[in-house]
Amino acid sequence: MTKGTAARGKRTSQRTHMQCRRCGNRSYHKRKGQCAYCGFPAPKLRRYSWQTKNFNNRRRID
Ligand SMILES: [Zn+2]
Repeated sequence: MTKGTAARGKRTSQRTHMQCRRCGNRSYHKRKGQCAYCGFPAPKLRRYSWQTKNFNNRRRID
């Protein structure tokens, strides 16, 4: 138990993200102060076109 992943294995104990106040996902970055999912402190929701696929020539929203 000394070779390989020993030191890296500890990295999971550090919680970089916590639950987001707006979207509820565990994506709010503590040190950044920003949600990776919805971009929380920003007034607009974080959304990209590549998140969804075209469906009946329309953008699916989800
Ligand atoms: Zn969020």
